[in-house]
Amino acid sequence: MNSLGWDRPDVILVTGDAYIDSPHIGVAVVGKALVNAGFRVGIISQPDTNSGTDILGLGEPALFWGVTGGSIDSMVANYTPVKKRRKSDDYTPGGMNTRRPDRAVIVYTNLIRRFSQGTAPVVLGGIEASLRRIAHYDFWSDSIRRSILFDAKADILIYGMGEYPAVELAQRMTSGRDYRDMRGICFISRDSPAGYGEIPSYEDVCASRDAFTEMFHAFYRGNDQAVGRGFCQRHSDRFLVHNPPWPTLTEQELDAVHAHVYEREVHPHDLARGQVKAMETIRFSLTTHRGCMGRCNFCSISVHEGAAVVSRSEDSIIEEAVRLVGHPQFKGTIQDIGGPTANMYGMRCTRKAAGTCRDRRCLYPAPCPGLDMSHRRQAGLLRRLGALPGVRKAFVASGIRHDLVCADTPHGGDYMEELVKHHVSGQLKLAPEHCVPAVLERMAKPGCDSLLEFRDLFTRLTRRAGKRQFLTYYFLAAHPGCTESDMVLLRAYIDRHLKITPEQVQIFTPTPSTYSTLMYCTGRDPFSGEPIHVERDPRRKQRQKDILTRKER
Ligand code: SF4
Repeated sequence: MNSLGWDRPDVILVTGDAYIDSPHIGVAVVGKALVNAGFRVGIISQPDTNSGTDILGLGEPALFWGVTGGSIDSMVANYTPVKKRRKSDDYTPGGMNTRRPDRAVIVYTNLIRRFSQGTAPVVLGGIEASLRRIAHYDFWSDSIRRSILFDAKADILIYGMGEYPAVELAQRMTSGRDYRDMRGICFISRDSPAGYGEIPSYEDVCASRDAFTEMFHAFYRGNDQAVGRGFCQRHSDRFLVHNPPWPTLTEQELDAVHAHVYEREVHPHDLARGQVKAMETIRFSLTTHRGCMGRCNFCSISVHEGAAVVSRSEDSIIEEAVRLVGHPQFKGTIQDIGGPTANMYGMRCTRKAAGTCRDRRCLYPAPCPGLDMSHRRQAGLLRRLGALPGVRKAFVASGIRHDLVCADTPHGGDYMEELVKHHVSGQLKLAPEHCVPAVLERMAKPGCDSLLEFRDLFTRLTRRAGKRQFLTYYFLAAHPGCTESDMVLLRAYIDRHLKITPEQVQIFTPTPSTYSTLMYCTGRDPFSGEPIHVERDPRRKQRQKDILTRKER
């Protein structure tokens, strides 16, 4: 600040991660967007929560404090799916889980309130705030909690992808304009805005499973970036006002986000405390798109990033790759070319964009014929990246949807040839999650026919290319609706068809604001109302996992 000649920043962002200057880290992206728009920004990472020393290190902001728990919800980061405390943290210098408090968003906001003069409002953002923005089931306290805006006593919450709303908010505050009609935000009000529907209140959803389910459906409808409307939710004598979502970015807007230059390094202040493990995977990776149309019930990506995919232009990605090549530490390998699901790059649906298809799912039970699922564009992109001077290897490390490849008859084969020959770093990730139809239905995951078709194609092409590389399968245990007998069936399926001992088996974590979490909370299927088996006992959850991972056959 001294060398920049700043007396104080306009915005101070506080994060539960180390400060990593990378396009993969939300707080860095928001910071760059604000700086690019002419604002002075400071970032405070993992402040000491027992004193005012760290939090006041940059003084008070002229416009607002921005608070995020970091790249992962702090409770997910701090506890395993069976609620044991995690020892390590990939986003903390030195790797020990010693710096991120439980419920980081609330703790940091309290810290600001306690030590600052209270002249600037507190704005929440990031995944923890975003998915806890309305009443939600909290697995760690086994209760339905209020919107985090009430619990944190913050002023505004930016939900979803925050860089454009953060800039708009800063501009409105600078010019003294009211921000309360801004899209992409929530705030607390004594009154419900005119024209806003009211979803079941916090008190109602605590008292009734039906009301909680109804609230959840309304929340999902309101989250549609094309047609979602504002709504509010009463909490006692006040309202949580939820404005419509920020619109899906255009290709040009997403390109602009990635046009900023990042150090791709941990800030020296944090690096002095040790290496940050997350850097190993993100330092030389490229994000090609945002959003996921898969909408698996257990996943929050489509709620947070959007259910429509927005892709960068090839030129923007190539430009970033050229910058990677020029990085002093780059050794010739691009670690990942991907997004939430790598092979959704360039896919789109005009009906999704227009908001004329609301309730159908794009990939369940099978890929929708209305979806442009061509892999032609991404096969071309992989070729261009692989041929760039200075690039020896360009890998796809993010998982792919095998069902999309199989459904793309004209171009899926060509994409696979390119992928298998040049872009697999030994293992390619797939996430079938299960094989039992009733469990897959609860997850909104496709059946296994396409999995075997894909496996055969991969094996054939790998042999032809003379390579030694494998498929890695991800499975999920103890999802609502899944019993130990289902896991036994899954093990038999894996033995018979895949002939592996799976290593990537996770126990389902009921993260805030997903349909699977709603099932976990209510014990019912939210669409049919049918009662379903829910495994709540940590030992039996572990047993479900062990059925797959035990070595003996
Ligand atoms: S038409 Fe098909 S691909 Fe398009 S939004 Fe609807 S379900 Fe998805």
